[in-house]
Amino acid sequence: MAREHDIAVIGGGLVGSALAYGLARLGRRVALLDEGDVAYRASRGNFGLVWVQGKGLGLAPYGGWTQRSVRRFPELAALLCEDAGVDVALEQPGGFHLCLSAAELAHRADQLARLVAQPGFERYAFDVVDRGALARRLPGIGPQVAGATYCRLDGHLNPLRLFRALHAAFLARGGSYRPNAKVEAIAREGGAFTVRTAAGRIEAGQVVLAAGLGNAPLAPQVGLRAAVRPQRGMVVVLERVRRFLDYPLSTLRQTDEGTVLIGDSQEEAGFDDTLSTAVLATLASRAVQVFPFLRNARVNRTWAALRVMSPDGFPIYEQSALAPGAFVVTCHSGVTLAAAHALDLAPRIADGDLGADLSAFTSERLNVQKAA
Ligand SMILES: Cc1cc2nc3c(=O)[nH]c(=O)nc-3n(C[C@H](O)[C@H](O)[C@H](O)COP(=O)(O)OP(=O)(O)OC[C@H]3O[C@@H](n4cnc5c(N)ncnc54)[C@H](O)[C@@H]3O)c2cc1C
Repeated sequence: MAREHDIAVIGGGLVGSALAYGLARLGRRVALLDEGDVAYRASRGNFGLVWVQGKGLGLAPYGGWTQRSVRRFPELAALLCEDAGVDVALEQPGGFHLCLSAAELAHRADQLARLVAQPGFERYAFDVVDRGALARRLPGIGPQVAGATYCRLDGHLNPLRLFRALHAAFLARGGSYRPNAKVEAIAREGGAFTVRTAAGRIEAGQVVLAAGLGNAPLAPQVGLRAAVRPQRGMVVVLERVRRFLDYPLSTLRQTDEGTVLIGDSQEEAGFDDTLSTAVLATLASRAVQVFPFLRNARVNRTWAALRVMSPDGFPIYEQSALAPGAFVVTCHSGVTLAAAHALDLAPRIADGDLGADLSAFTSERLNVQKAA
């Protein structure tokens, strides 16, 4: 009997839906299986940066991979407009990382210099901007801002629209989305995979594990490892204010709709995704130091969500040696990497070969670090 699906993608968050869309664009028959609203979903709680600056210290290829995604983002945004009719509000004017003391600025500059000087790192230019020059580009900054670093590759978008667009574009390309289909077991039989879900069984020639924190228990079933852990992040949203900010900052941005997002904390809190007023107060107070006039803006919403973190914070992309055709894909910057996932990684998965240039992202590196 002919199989109904070429590929089953497990997890309908940003990572799974970007891959599923990329695979459906290639004409593959794809089933996208998602646990449903009960699951932890970083994709619905993130900050919306499409960000390069500062990434890759400790794993040089990650810097290049991130840049590749960011450079291809306009192409993805255009495709999503075409296939889904959704504008994801992508803006890539470059971004600033602000520092509140001279010592902080010096440390930041040193860190970026070390980052781009790593062997094998695809170098990019960054500027260290003093307070005077910064005030001309970011009117309204407070007296405590000492300066910033700037990278012209950085940007931001509306992440909920990106999420919706990827799903709609996937469906428009003939994909089959199965919500409330938590995957319980995966088995490889006779060269194909049988995936048992809460909503029945599916057979597919390939299977991609893109279930965020749900990858950890699934991966060993197909001879893979995904030792991901949750890391809590909180975001504060202020009411709409007049347009005052033409650039995203690493911890504050004005959306295309005029609201202001302040983010995002980093806490090891296990699977606890509740809010803490102390953390929210710290975020708010830093934002007021940066732009004192925000003191008068009302808070509209706050939320906490769980990041999906590998042991060293870098992506894991790997095909199983034990069960070829099974892949694991996980990362902690699923907004930024959406273009690379849809346009670059998906074709490699379809070809059954991730390529030597992505070998730095297998879980092997974690063994080496452990032994070191
Ligand atoms: C506060 C915060 C701020 C962030 N800011 C940014 C940012 O500015 N820029 C950026 O690039 N990234 C950012 N991120 C990270 C980004 O949101 C994540 O990298 C991305 O959402 C991860 O997507 P995912 O699909 O891997 O995981 P998730 O969004 O968690 O989705 C996993 C999906 O898998 C499904 N699932 C789980 N188990 C199973 C199972 N057994 N069977 C079927 N389905 C299953 C779930 O239903 C869920 O839909 C941020 C994250 C947080 C928390």
